[in-house]
Amino acid sequence: MSKMSNLWEHTNAEDLSVTRLSADRTVDLVVIGAGFTGCSAALEAARTGASTVVLEAETIAHGGSGRNVGLVNAGLWLPPDDVVAVMGEAEGTRLVEALGKGPSAVFSLVRDFGIACEAVQNGTLHLAHSPAGFRDLEKRFTQGIQLGAPLQLLDREEASRRTGSTQFHGALLDPRAGTVQPRSYCGGLARSAVGLGAEIYQNSPVTRIEREGGDWRVHANGQVVTAQRLLLATNAYHQLAEGACAPEYVVVNFCQFATAPLTEAQRAKILPGREGCWDTALVMSSIRMDESGRLIVGGMGDSEGLGARIHGRWARRKLRRLYPEIGDIPFEHRWRGRIAMTQDHIPKVVEFGPGAYALFGYSGRGICPGTVLGTAAAKALLEECPETMPLPVVRKYAERFKRMKRAYYEFGASLTHAARPGPLG
Ligand SMILES: Cc1cc2nc3c(=O)[nH]c(=O)nc-3n(C[C@H](O)[C@H](O)[C@H](O)COP(=O)(O)OP(=O)(O)OC[C@H]3O[C@@H](n4cnc5c(N)ncnc54)[C@H](O)[C@@H]3O)c2cc1C
Repeated sequence: MSKMSNLWEHTNAEDLSVTRLSADRTVDLVVIGAGFTGCSAALEAARTGASTVVLEAETIAHGGSGRNVGLVNAGLWLPPDDVVAVMGEAEGTRLVEALGKGPSAVFSLVRDFGIACEAVQNGTLHLAHSPAGFRDLEKRFTQGIQLGAPLQLLDREEASRRTGSTQFHGALLDPRAGTVQPRSYCGGLARSAVGLGAEIYQNSPVTRIEREGGDWRVHANGQVVTAQRLLLATNAYHQLAEGACAPEYVVVNFCQFATAPLTEAQRAKILPGREGCWDTALVMSSIRMDESGRLIVGGMGDSEGLGARIHGRWARRKLRRLYPEIGDIPFEHRWRGRIAMTQDHIPKVVEFGPGAYALFGYSGRGICPGTVLGTAAAKALLEECPETMPLPVVRKYAERFKRMKRAYYEFGASLTHAARPGPLG
């Protein structure tokens, strides 16, 4: 594997060997897509004794689940009051509460199934990139405290001590949260589901879905999986499947750059508590450390598209400004992924036929939503209780101006990353 590749593939500790679909199957639940959503659904179904097949077009965690930063955050990217403003008091509060328990759900699964995914529950830091960013954190802090979240607002000095950088104006610490090696977490979910009887097939792209005699017939590799319940969990990596509802979202690219492992002395100063971090900037960036001490810098933009050089130079500049003492250490890994963003930044669950859901649009927050909503979807489908889903099940969802918004996000990221550095580069 080339070194300038996805770090998470390089350090994956949960490699599950599964074959392609090569025979017809009849089961209770068929799931399309083996990311956090699909694997969590399969695990929940298998736990309750339901027979389940997962069909994956590529390999397990090929999509966002194998490419993300690994921040196991409570809640959505939107602050709780905004979620309530968009969804209404009852539904917004229900979703915020369900996702507030997300980190605990994720870390419990990691413990219960012994998932080897570098899990660290030391909290995450939302870092203020400017004085205005700190004011935003103050609002988030007040809203979170009102909902009983154990948040702590940290001043500039404490943010500097925890990050090892003088560049931040303060931080919001969420001690419920933490980090995982996301590829391994997803592989561990898959391995656990298979251990309980689920079947997962890789290299089995679903090409067609049809209804026949009250069943769903799902076609892949010339074979058919028949089931009464169907979950489409393809999110931002959806490949065309005739007859299925296509998830509707705007693609936002996010790229990451990982250094060689830092020395012990450097690790003692930089993120000594191993919190995962992201910042308050509109064109957001992230920093975190992996288990072997690699520092990982992330930012919006496509590191393999037209702006590749711009984003690469930005990452180098960012590292130098945050940590001048290690600024010239080489990057050994670089990769990118697609985020499925919705207009209101709220995930969607669409019932596109009897007993068939499509779940998508996590808008950059997928480890907890994928786990929580995937689990809930399996339960709601198998027990026929849509009211147990933590968000409303709708019949249709359409996203407008997708191409234009995608270009806008990419252009905005390139422009910001190309600009001469402001206070944070
Ligand atoms: C770079 C990046 C950074 C992120 N950082 C974070 C973070 O720090 N914290 C966080 O909580 N979230 C983060 N996210 C979001 C999170 O990764 C996603 O929301 C999450 O992975 C979505 O999981 P999923 O299972 O729904 O979809 P995916 O993981 O994308 O899985 C979908 C799967 O469906 C398969 N598929 C598609 N079409 C078909 C077909 N026709 N037949 C069969 N299979 C098919 C794909 O191959 C893919 O494997 C990030 C995302 C990206 C891209």
